[in-house]
Amino acid sequence: MSQDNDRHDPSRRTFLATAAVAASVAVIGLRPRSARAAAGSLPHLTENADPLAKSFGYEPSAKAVNRAKFPNYKPGERCAMCRFFQGSADEAAGFAGCAIYPGYAVNAQGWCGSFVARS
Ligand code: SF4
Repeated sequence: MSQDNDRHDPSRRTFLATAAVAASVAVIGLRPRSARAAAGSLPHLTENADPLAKSFGYEPSAKAVNRAKFPNYKPGERCAMCRFFQGSADEAAGFAGCAIYPGYAVNAQGWCGSFVARS
């Protein structure tokens, strides 16, 4: 596929970027316990706080996801259901670390284009 096609296909671009981030996380390893312990002292992630969060359309409330820009979003998905979320899967509220955005805590009710469902 050519670069020209990538430029005109945002879902493909998002997928490729997500795959690259996920591969990086796999290489450096996930440290959920230490990240979870530190989450209380971390600043809350906002779309404008981090360029990666902006490119992946992070929203602290999944209800605000731009579905035209992120057609891979499925209603009901939220950070607490994502494999990168470092809090508990049944967390309905609150914040925890995210392996994609070290140094920030993400909202359990949030979402970004790097979402990968827990297996
Ligand atoms: S959807 Fe997943 S990768 Fe994106 S901010 Fe939430 S926990 Fe992190």
